[in-house]
Amino acid sequence: RREYHIVVLGAGGVGKSCLTAQFVQNVWIESYDPTIEDSYRKQIEVDVGDGDLRSSMYIRDTGHRWHGTVHSDEVPYAPIDSLMNFPDRVPSRELYMKSGQGFLLVFSITSLSSLTELHELRDQIVRIKDDPLIPLVIVGNKSDLEEDRAVSRSRAFSVSESWNNAPYYETSARRRNNVDEAFVDLCRQIIRK
Ligand code: GDP
Ligand code: MG
Repeated sequence: RREYHIVVLGAGGVGKSCLTAQFVQNVWIESYDPTIEDSYRKQIEVDVGDGDLRSSMYIRDTGHRWHGTVHSDEVPYAPIDSLMNFPDRVPSRELYMKSGQGFLLVFSITSLSSLTELHELRDQIVRIKDDPLIPLVIVGNKSDLEEDRAVSRSRAFSVSESWNNAPYYETSARRRNNVDEAFVDLCRQIIRK
């Protein structure tokens, strides 16, 4: 049986760890140590028509690489540049990208900068994987915070169009809304590739 390697990427504070915890463990964790980086395994069932429904996902939740402690409400959306660029702490972002077969690119619908920062990440993925059709999904998280929305759906969809129609999901890790759908979509893309 195959194991599909997924990497969760995005600016600090967008909800990567909360989404991963909801998908893998069905738990809501209000506050995560932003430096935590972990990987998880989860068995899922995806029907791809060959009779075998079982697939296994290996999910890498990427974290901040702060020198010291920063509280998430002081720096709610850490620039990606500040993440994972400290060579003394391997593996690097580049190594994650090399080993990933599919990518969950996460922003928060309450932060426009968290969306614009995904462009740089996506460029880097395409370059490192040398594949403009690499499986990825765009995730606009915190959809429960509609009153704080800073990114319209149409804006997110236009990003999707410019990235070979990468699927766009609006999720709420808090409410566990659309979480499975986003991960399973990514898994299907990898299987079909
Ligand atoms: P990460 O840095 O991308 O891993 O972000 P975290 O998963 O640690 O989440 C950062 C903050 O956003 C935490 O305070 C979470 O409680 C909050 N958060 C994460 N997902 C959601 C969500 O879907 N809705 C709301 N309202 N808050 C969320
Ligand atoms: Mg995290």
